[in-house]
Amino acid sequence: MIKALKGMKDLFEPENKRYEFVIQTSTNIAKKYGFELVQTPILEESSLFLRSVGESSDIVGKEMYRFVDKGGNDVCLRPEGTAGVVRAFIEHKMDRAGVKKRYFYHGPMYRYERPQKGRFRQFHQFGVESFGIDDPKEDAFIIAMLKEILDNLGVKATLKLNSLGCPECMPKYREKLIEFLNKIPNLCEDCLRRKELNPIRVLDCKNSNCQMQLKDAPLVTDHLCSSCSEDFKNLQEFLTILKIDFSLDPWLVRGLDYYTKSAFEFISDEIGAQSAVAGGGRYDRLVEFLGGKPTKGIGFAMGIERLLELAKPPLEPRSGVYLGVLSESATKKALKATYELRKKIKTVYEYELKSLKSHLKQADKSECLWCACIGENELIDDTVWVKNLENKEERTVPYSTFKDGSWLTMD
Ligand SMILES: [Zn+2]
Ligand SMILES: [Zn+2]
Repeated sequence: MIKALKGMKDLFEPENKRYEFVIQTSTNIAKKYGFELVQTPILEESSLFLRSVGESSDIVGKEMYRFVDKGGNDVCLRPEGTAGVVRAFIEHKMDRAGVKKRYFYHGPMYRYERPQKGRFRQFHQFGVESFGIDDPKEDAFIIAMLKEILDNLGVKATLKLNSLGCPECMPKYREKLIEFLNKIPNLCEDCLRRKELNPIRVLDCKNSNCQMQLKDAPLVTDHLCSSCSEDFKNLQEFLTILKIDFSLDPWLVRGLDYYTKSAFEFISDEIGAQSAVAGGGRYDRLVEFLGGKPTKGIGFAMGIERLLELAKPPLEPRSGVYLGVLSESATKKALKATYELRKKIKTVYEYELKSLKSHLKQADKSECLWCACIGENELIDDTVWVKNLENKEERTVPYSTFKDGSWLTMD
């Protein structure tokens, strides 16, 4: 038997309804904030991610679905969404034009990770990217938008905020951090590796022994230059004006050089251990890193799989018409009526002959609002019998009125 690949799964109802709810809610809110959809290919040149995500990261080092295609190109399935959007922004010369652009995207991403609960090798993200705007008001609105999305999904999460400085202040801070790390006697293997490649990421270590030794580490927020510190102060003030609660977390870091200034995460502990449902921040140097004209940027991404567990879609009301026939001679009328009625409303036509009782039972299961039946009596009168499954009212409507749907709006 052929099975889906490890770490990949099929999505059926009712999970798809939740999926749709997450995407639809996020899309509607992103549009209200002035973001437009961008769709980029799932397959990209590997070098895009080597340069953006960074060769030292686990993603590029171990987790990429990377192969050589028939044309000899080194390609891979996208492990995240930002790089492709930035590539498209540059390729279509929007960096040269100096335009301000706000995009949202969603779709599957791929990482060859060790499968574990809640982690998939094909997973889905919804994200936004804003280009060309160097103003902490944009940071505040991006966070506000993300908060509104989570609120509308019914996801309770708390906001953590940090600033990662800029090319002016970050390198000096990094020197201090390395100096500190060099004095620590026993960091874990991962930290020793990170210390060389990406010292900031050491602060992120989950190892309790490391955490204990790092509690007096110098913090980036104590080393911000005046421009970074002013932007950070402004952002906090804007969030306060918008009544968005946050806590400062100087341990919230990103390991990549192109990340600058604001970094944020929404953390939920609703199901199981605390984990981030969404994260983002400024990446003022990424466009330049990928060969474009320097352009400021900020964005976030949310993991859909986690949101599927946490989202609380509203109960859907009954809708549509279930149509059943009680005798063979009614089938042609039912066929025609179904075809016409479907132009107005969802119609479920049960082909099989059944008793009225079985039809009613099945209509109830189908979650339709109406159960309609055509039997011998209705054939003689040229009518259709209908029952509202919510208020239990029954009535008989003329066949012509039934099939054109006008009975739906009559009382
Ligand atoms: Zn700075
Ligand atoms: Zn460690």
